[in-house]
Amino acid sequence: MKPIAELLKVDVVLGDGGYLIELERRGYVDSGSGREKVGTGRGSGQFTPEVAIEQPDALRELHREFLNAGAQVLQALTFFGTREKLTRAGYGAETESINAAAVRLAREVAGDRALVAGSVSRTQLTEREGMESLGKSRDHIAEQIRLLKDSGVDFLILETFFHLAEMQVALECAAAAGLPAVATMSFRPLITKCTDGHTPAECARVMAGLGALAVGANCEQEPGRMLPLLREMRAAVSVPIAAQPGAFRTTDACHCFTRQPAFPDDLETIQVSRREFTEFGRAARTEGIGYVGGCCGCNPAYIRALAQGLEARR
Ligand SMILES: [Zn+2]
Repeated sequence: MKPIAELLKVDVVLGDGGYLIELERRGYVDSGSGREKVGTGRGSGQFTPEVAIEQPDALRELHREFLNAGAQVLQALTFFGTREKLTRAGYGAETESINAAAVRLAREVAGDRALVAGSVSRTQLTEREGMESLGKSRDHIAEQIRLLKDSGVDFLILETFFHLAEMQVALECAAAAGLPAVATMSFRPLITKCTDGHTPAECARVMAGLGALAVGANCEQEPGRMLPLLREMRAAVSVPIAAQPGAFRTTDACHCFTRQPAFPDDLETIQVSRREFTEFGRAARTEGIGYVGGCCGCNPAYIRALAQGLEARR
């Protein structure tokens, strides 16, 4: 496989995703909805990646399905894999083994057919403790990126950051580790501004300025709702746009699925069909999207739909 920077120059790169909610549906990931208050912005349940050490076959199988759907990148399931988040879920002592196992499984399935990306997300410290906690975030993110580098990822996908300030920290850590990064923010409750008050255009400029290979958005919105913010980013930067939309219907009043009453136990009632992803794939090139994958609510059928859309316009 060519490196990600080269692939992005050739054509739209097809990614994968949403691992956690798909594995939650299959019974291998804990949403935390039975214990922790969710959907309020004060916490987001558990959704941690211990499946990598506890049920490796389940994760291996989902990787295989994404690969067969056409994904050129497999994301190691290291989302919410900082020591901070894992400790709150009771897995802090397994931080090293979870990250290493997740990368090993993705690599084993990818072989020479796909690249392996390490997934790094927010620590949730900024939501819980405020911006003064950014120093602690830096330590946790730097540690996870070090673990991912040691495990041999090809690049990083920095995703589902709500605060641009924490994304900046993550991009600095990626650069310090010498790993290329695709960077995507998540916008809620509306697509107009991220949690620390920056527009999509401002986010895109800052992320590109810090060296991200592609910048964009992931999670929270379905393709149709996400598109306007991607266009705003497209107009602001010259690097490729990355898009990993969710597959849950949002509303004009609330542009994010994690604050819909259906999150997390009634998500099937707001599921978006794969057709919207075929259309999104069709539009990707003309919209200047260079990296496209899925996020929460997507499964391999949605990635296949994206692939079909991309192929239809080739
Ligand atoms: Zn998501």
